[in-house]
Amino acid sequence: MDNKLYDISIIGGGPAGMFAAYYASMRKLNVALIESLPNLGGQPQTLYAQKQIYDIAALPQVSGTELIDQLSKQMALLPCDEYLDTSVTDLQRADDDTWTISTNKETIKTKSIIIAMGNGAFQPRKLTFDYDPTIEENNLSYFVNDINDFKDKDVAIAGGGDSAVDWAIHINELANNTSIIHRRNKYRAMESSIDSLNESDVEQLNPFIIKDVTYNDDDKSKIDILLKKIKSEDEKTITVDKLLVNYGFISDSKILRDWNLELEGPFIKVSQQMETNLPNVFAIGDIATYPGKLQLIATAFAEGPTAVTKALRNIYPDKDYFEHSTSLFH
Ligand SMILES: Cc1cc2nc3c(=O)[nH]c(=O)nc-3n(C[C@H](O)[C@H](O)[C@H](O)COP(=O)(O)OP(=O)(O)OC[C@H]3O[C@@H](n4cnc5c(N)ncnc54)[C@H](O)[C@@H]3O)c2cc1C
Repeated sequence: MDNKLYDISIIGGGPAGMFAAYYASMRKLNVALIESLPNLGGQPQTLYAQKQIYDIAALPQVSGTELIDQLSKQMALLPCDEYLDTSVTDLQRADDDTWTISTNKETIKTKSIIIAMGNGAFQPRKLTFDYDPTIEENNLSYFVNDINDFKDKDVAIAGGGDSAVDWAIHINELANNTSIIHRRNKYRAMESSIDSLNESDVEQLNPFIIKDVTYNDDDKSKIDILLKKIKSEDEKTITVDKLLVNYGFISDSKILRDWNLELEGPFIKVSQQMETNLPNVFAIGDIATYPGKLQLIATAFAEGPTAVTKALRNIYPDKDYFEHSTSLFH
């Protein structure tokens, strides 16, 4: 993708960025979608994958992960260039009025930018001790990319919040056996989820912390997890195929302060057409604010087309416009 000049580059692959990317591709623009995590989906995928959402138009009920699956399928109809595991660090305006986006990996050139960064770049809270980094290749993960990775496996899930409890219940439906490791006796999850956990045969290892993770001596495809009981000298080791660590995510949008954007608190102020104070730079979704703003997926889905249409009109003032997707695929 070297030396490519995009029409629109979208920073952030949550629901706002994903739908905006699809809509911009539908308007026949060259699109880059940049996401700091290795997978798209933002908050619904990362923070509440198994929770049901009830306020998406025309979908009476959909889980976070199902919503993101549907968005991915829609994007696959008109694919754009995806830069995953790539964090944007800076924006620079060039003399020819194009923008250069710096990331932790490469620079991306673009005519316009849509910032859809939500609450900022997500990073998982990781285990705090050193372990063999190759363990992350097959045995240790901080996200669920595909629940089928856990099928017929011995799985341990670390954490005590909504996400850990929900994953323990759902992974247990297809895993060989599942345990949840939490440092307290009480979970920080919805009561109904805790009830489901208690009714399941998930082994609850509470209150334990993980002290070490190493390859199993006899079977290198497995790992040993050394557990220490809280306020006790008791230790025990369990052997599993997979460890999913769900200690939550840290998000950081402080970086915005260096981009000369007009901010209101941690949010970017935008016009009715989603314009920021910088030329051809727009903001949508949770990161954008204006009077009456609602931080909802429904709102984000509407803001994407508004920003894309304004960007298109700015960069191609003479292009023909169409209004409805119904005329598109004929
Ligand atoms: C527990 C919970 C329940 C919710 N329930 C509902 C609900 O029922 N209905 C509803 O409408 N909304 C709900 N929401 C809110 C909804 O999830 C958000 O409004 C929505 O996710 C906003 O989408 P977004 O794309 O703007 O931001 P996000 O989903 O936050 O996505 C932003 C993405 O940008 C990426 N990013 C950030 N900075 C960078 C960078 N520098 N470089 C590259 N990538 C970057 C992040 O990694 C992230 O993936 C809920 C939120 C939570 C936490």
